[in-house]
Amino acid sequence: MSDKTCAKCGAAVDAGEVREFRDQELCEDCYMEALSPLHVCDPWAVHTAKSLKDLPGGQNLTPIQQKLYDLVKAKGEVPIPEAAAHLGLNEDDLRREFAPLRHMEMLRACKKDDLILLTLF
Ligand SMILES: [Zn+2]
Repeated sequence: MSDKTCAKCGAAVDAGEVREFRDQELCEDCYMEALSPLHVCDPWAVHTAKSLKDLPGGQNLTPIQQKLYDLVKAKGEVPIPEAAAHLGLNEDDLRREFAPLRHMEMLRACKKDDLILLTLF
């Protein structure tokens, strides 16, 4: 029953699903990303990277996911607590809404000091 927290994106991870990378406990996504040599986490350079990608239109986002995406798009980077407050969610729910956006490569999370910031992918 002990849920873990991904050391990188802060997502809640089932204890059984945790992947260990070096000495960190990561979710599946971050683990795959950590294994990738292409890993980049630079919020300031993100908008150039994939801006040509076909975004929302074809994706089936929930209204909350759409709001979250719009919020991040408008602000560039949004700390998780601020995004949660903006959408009226607690942080766990926010992270659950965030996960599919991450899978669709629309949003990503970057750790900056003690804050986890959501940015465009
Ligand atoms: Zn993660």
